[in-house]
Amino acid sequence: MRNLVVQKFGGTSVADTDKIKNVADVILKEKANGNDVVVVVSAMGHTTDHLVKLAHEINPNPSARELDMLMSTGECVSMSLLTMALQAKGHKAISFNAAQIGIITENVHTKARIIDIKTDKLNESLSEGNIIVIAGFQGVTEEGEITTLGRGGSDTSAVAIASALDAKRCDIYTDVEGVYTTDPRVVPNASRLDEISYDEMLELAHAGANVLHPRSVETAKQYSMPLRVRSTFKNENMGTLILGVEDMEINKPVAGVAADLSQVRVVVCDIPDTPGEAATLFSALAKENISVDMIIQSYARKVSKTNDIAFTINKEDFDKAKEVLEVVQKQLNAGEVSYNDNIAKISIIGAGMIDRPGIASTMFKTLADNGINIRMISTSEIKISCLINKEDAQRAVKALHEVFNLGSDEIAEVKGTLPDV
Ligand code: ASP
Ligand code: MG
Repeated sequence: MRNLVVQKFGGTSVADTDKIKNVADVILKEKANGNDVVVVVSAMGHTTDHLVKLAHEINPNPSARELDMLMSTGECVSMSLLTMALQAKGHKAISFNAAQIGIITENVHTKARIIDIKTDKLNESLSEGNIIVIAGFQGVTEEGEITTLGRGGSDTSAVAIASALDAKRCDIYTDVEGVYTTDPRVVPNASRLDEISYDEMLELAHAGANVLHPRSVETAKQYSMPLRVRSTFKNENMGTLILGVEDMEINKPVAGVAADLSQVRVVVCDIPDTPGEAATLFSALAKENISVDMIIQSYARKVSKTNDIAFTINKEDFDKAKEVLEVVQKQLNAGEVSYNDNIAKISIIGAGMIDRPGIASTMFKTLADNGINIRMISTSEIKISCLINKEDAQRAVKALHEVFNLGSDEIAEVKGTLPDV
């Protein structure tokens, strides 16, 4: 481990030139603490959304390669502007894109995984006294093709770079003051967590808490890289530290409640009850890089000898999944395939629920007491998720936050508007 901190700044932190100048000050503060600093930036404000919108105005079905060529430009703008801001303040700074460094990814467009990061150029540049600013979200294949890591992926760039450089910490600067027990826009007295384990954070991220890109937490866990989520605007506050569960003291069974409104439920009816059918179905989806979340298979019907299989996918993959399932339906000789996006996945997460009975039943009873119907259930060691109707999502989150005693005495500062419910 060396005296090096990696800082990542999200889109809202670099949304305009004044904010970029402010970020330069935050970087210089860390530098003044005696640390070398490597910075990873997102695109300015809503740039990536805007670029995607432009693409769809031109072509309703843009090729993934060209989307990556387009989307990767957003981070190049912010990295060079931020470097200019540091230089304007009299500091040695230099920016690099992923291809210049060698942030090598697999050969997949729009959601590539990093497989290697070359550190020679970074080390050389650090030894020359530079603050380095790197474009997040992008990578390059062995063949030199530009890729991106999936929406929100610059968190993952930052953690991967921190691990490759053996940094002592990776700080994710954002517009919220840390990780909360739930979305403060839904529950105003949500509490900020001082600490949370990698596993809990991973489950929270997958469950729809849009604070961190899930893969960034996986990478941090893999390399035991301490990760801090903190505010760019109130940076005297240390935010939330994400670390190994062995380094934590756990006193509550549930650490947080999350709602994921971006899933679609798919039901494939009347699949013949013979070995290999589920494998065929899910391999076809996997081949197209479509991840599946909750899965339920019904008991086989005695007469028809068929099953129904229901599962959820991400909205982003909806169109592709439809294409795949049309083929699979014929292949399996299955019945109707139906889709429902009027759903929400509500999850409670906590390392403290291991070996503590009664948590699931409390969740189900709380939903029942509020007249909320459960359509699917899935569990892991530290998470219980229920699929419910979208219009019940906010009520469910409020009730669960209350029953598991997660509120604080303070009202969190509320940022932004709620996603459409
Ligand atoms: N700019 C990219 C996005 O909006 C990556 C990121 O911000 O992490 O998804
Ligand atoms: Mg983000």
